[in-house]
Amino acid sequence: MAYDPDNIFARILNGEIPCDKVYEDDQVLAFNDHNPQRPVHVLVIPKGEYVSFDDFSANASEAEIAAFTRAVGRIARDLGIAETGYRLLANTGPHGGQEVPHYHVHIFGGAPVGPMVSG
Ligand code: 5GP
Repeated sequence: MAYDPDNIFARILNGEIPCDKVYEDDQVLAFNDHNPQRPVHVLVIPKGEYVSFDDFSANASEAEIAAFTRAVGRIARDLGIAETGYRLLANTGPHGGQEVPHYHVHIFGGAPVGPMVSG
């Protein structure tokens, strides 16, 4: 799947659409989900143009992957949920239920998240 430069997260990255930012560095942006499913629900996205985890894991540089992984952990610690715990989720492709075609990880926390998979 080719990257769609008009996807909603691309538009957040270029400043066209606002977000409630919780973290930013030169490689990564994180912001609160506009429809939170748990008390903490943050989306972490790379600034590079990757459609999904599949694309990112295959095509991102080692530096991008390292920066992204480090940022996710740091954000969770900064949010104060590292001790109590949290869930990371990367919906990938149609069967994964991915809606926005720019790679992102959900961080859920602030309360027990519940069953791993439902429905
Ligand atoms: P996916 O199903 O692709 O993993 O999840 C996409 C997430 O993006 C959903 O949880 C949805 O609420 C969130 N989302 C979609 N559009 C926007 C937006 O414009 N702003 C914010 N903050 N979150 C969004």
